[in-house]
Amino acid sequence: MTRPYPSSLYSPFRYSTLTMSTGIFRWGKRWQRRLAYGAMAFLMTLSLGAVVPRPASAGLLDIILPTIQVFQITNMSDEQEVRLGSQVNQQLLSQSFRLHRDPELAAYVDELGQSLIPHSDRPDIPYVFQVVEDDSINAFATMGGYVYITTGLLAAADNEAEVVGVLGHEVGHIAEKHALDQMRDVAIAQGVAGAFGLSRNQMVAIAVDVALHLPNSRKDELVADDHGFVTMGEAGYDQTGMATLMEKLDSGSSPPAIFSTHPNPRDRAARLRQMDGESALPSATAGTDTTAYSTRVASLR
Ligand SMILES: [Zn+2]
Repeated sequence: MTRPYPSSLYSPFRYSTLTMSTGIFRWGKRWQRRLAYGAMAFLMTLSLGAVVPRPASAGLLDIILPTIQVFQITNMSDEQEVRLGSQVNQQLLSQSFRLHRDPELAAYVDELGQSLIPHSDRPDIPYVFQVVEDDSINAFATMGGYVYITTGLLAAADNEAEVVGVLGHEVGHIAEKHALDQMRDVAIAQGVAGAFGLSRNQMVAIAVDVALHLPNSRKDELVADDHGFVTMGEAGYDQTGMATLMEKLDSGSSPPAIFSTHPNPRDRAARLRQMDGESALPSATAGTDTTAYSTRVASLR
């Protein structure tokens, strides 16, 4: 699928003044969609008062150093971002996670994820979907195409559409570069850069820290929900899956770790149900065969 606009213009609504001035060369369906997400996110940001933190009273150095950090992080090329994602992945896999051993299951999940990418808002970087051995119901994304989903979530899901909804949500975080936004905020808050900016090791350390400890904001979660919903629909999957998975999370006795810091699953499920009722694609009906899904994930049950 050809792209109607250059990749460097992917994020029209970054909240940094450095990247705020974007040019719009051509209009297309994706642009309209992205602008809608961006406008919504911007309004939500204002309403929540969650604008990027700035020093209350800043001296010249206080302004210059964060500017270097912001520039380094938010102006990363796709290649740099993919390399960072890969380094973060190596750290996570060596220190924090164990990948599920079943290669067939891993290939299946990767296949589901890859089926979304041509319909996503950021199809021209490579994506890696990995299954983490963990009983908790969890999924997250870092940057540069790296998505993680737990065996616990795969076991809790009833069909492909539910899994694909989660993967689409995570791809949405990557398309919006939410992890890079979080890194920028952390770098500014910690004042960790020297006069020449962040070293590569500092960058990776912050990215790992963000991945493991910093939840996404409510605004970012809702934007990622929107991405996931639209992307899975355009890929042909039944969009109800996103709501039904979220309803499962809400009915659990204790909310899974990652989602407890997300917006209330009940609110999100209700919102997704409403979106499904109002704007689901009639042609999007795939991924609802519970028996077929059950067979594919039999090793987890
Ligand atoms: Zn999320």
